[in-house]
Amino acid sequence: MRVFNTLTRRLETLTPREPGHVRLYTCGPTVYDFAHIGNFRTYVWEDLLRRTLELLGLRVTQVMNITDIEDKIIAKAIAEGTTIDRVTAPYIQAFFEDIDTLGIRRAEHYPRATEHIPEMIAIAKTLEARGLTYVSQGSLYFRIDAFAPYGRLSNLERREIKVGARVDSDEYDKDDARDFVLWKGHRDGEPSWESPFGPGRPGWHLECSAMSMKYLGESFDLHTGGVDNIFPHHENEIAQSEGATGHPFVTYWMHAAHLMVDGEKMAKSKGNFHTLRDLLAAGNDPRAIRYLLLATHYRSSLNFTFDALARAAGELARFDALQARLADARVAEGRDAVFDAKLAAIDAEVRDALADDLNVSGAFGALFRLVREANAALDRNELPAGSAAGLSEALARLDGALGVIAAKPAELLDPEIEALIAQRQAARKSKNFAESDRIRDLLSGRGIVLEDTPQGVRWRRSLPSAGRG
Ligand code: AMP
Ligand code: ZN
Repeated sequence: MRVFNTLTRRLETLTPREPGHVRLYTCGPTVYDFAHIGNFRTYVWEDLLRRTLELLGLRVTQVMNITDIEDKIIAKAIAEGTTIDRVTAPYIQAFFEDIDTLGIRRAEHYPRATEHIPEMIAIAKTLEARGLTYVSQGSLYFRIDAFAPYGRLSNLERREIKVGARVDSDEYDKDDARDFVLWKGHRDGEPSWESPFGPGRPGWHLECSAMSMKYLGESFDLHTGGVDNIFPHHENEIAQSEGATGHPFVTYWMHAAHLMVDGEKMAKSKGNFHTLRDLLAAGNDPRAIRYLLLATHYRSSLNFTFDALARAAGELARFDALQARLADARVAEGRDAVFDAKLAAIDAEVRDALADDLNVSGAFGALFRLVREANAALDRNELPAGSAAGLSEALARLDGALGVIAAKPAELLDPEIEALIAQRQAARKSKNFAESDRIRDLLSGRGIVLEDTPQGVRWRRSLPSAGRG
């Protein structure tokens, strides 16, 4: 597969350090509110990347962090007179429900920042020992002019370095490069942990260095996020990680352009956002939302409109119409060599397009050509059963990467359902009700209804729910 590497600003062949196994880190949500569909553009694209690697026969180990300690979370907890856990729990649950709704495959690990404080402190200690830090007003800062490669990812020459200037908020409001906080000294009312630098809490950037290296190793293959993550977040991750280990941190960096509304980035702070839940409540099909977010190349920005969402639903209807025709067609036995050859060529074209830095226009262009060819063959009564089966098999296989062709999410197999029910029972036993509710909702989203009976939990398949096509 070829990918555009932000670090080198070139298309490069992705060669994992361990042959056949890609280690991937994707920056995750800050759980102080529901994610909006701008966030989901990035997560859906990362899912396409993961699924494409899998389609191409690679194994993927993916880590996505959950930022559950951060300025906005703390502000909300203080405003509501509650704990940060109580603020974040419902949004963590909502995040997992939303990614299931959008057909995003689960990562292998979802580490939470508050559960990795010792790992963060260890990195900060190493950086201190290596002379890359200083203390000011009770907080520990990274000294960026002591780390020579600082700025390689974000092309820092074009920015101004404010030597000695510091930033200790989790968000930069300017483009200037400043020393950034690794460990924030304790402030009244804020949660804090003991550390060699005094009581306090970690800075946001440190969590991604600590959790990526813990689960993927000091050097790993691929790290992604939205373009707004390049500077300062990813630049600072590189400085912390390479400053501490002395090894290259990540080989390939990939970044997605933003989802826009009327020429502006969709953002919570701008008030111009839609959550997934808003769109579903208004009757939109999650599959059409996924397709809309997916079908524009990730390095191009995408303007969200309701017209575009309606068009997306209309385009998917062409796959559904073909599949309905295939199911009803009374066809002869055998295969048609001409159709089979076209199918093989288009199948290869879709794979090649995806392998070329996720060229979705090429992939969908070829797929819709396939739909036209198949309809034309059906019109002429020239799609015998063997070729029709080959077509269905190819569509299902390619949909393994795209996740939008099949009208319904793939049905869970009985053993998968039994395993989830067992997990839910275990969660209930340990009084982890958030987890047991999450599993019940996940099952219900996949059309499985649970009933508690005196003999234990029974399950049955519900009728296909409206809105899921
Ligand atoms: P945040 O919760 O703001 O840290 O964002 C989580 C992820 O969503 C990051 O990878 C961001 O780059 C990405 N993101 C935020 N806003 C947008 C947007 N409007 N379009 C695409 N990605 C976004
Ligand atoms: Zn991150």
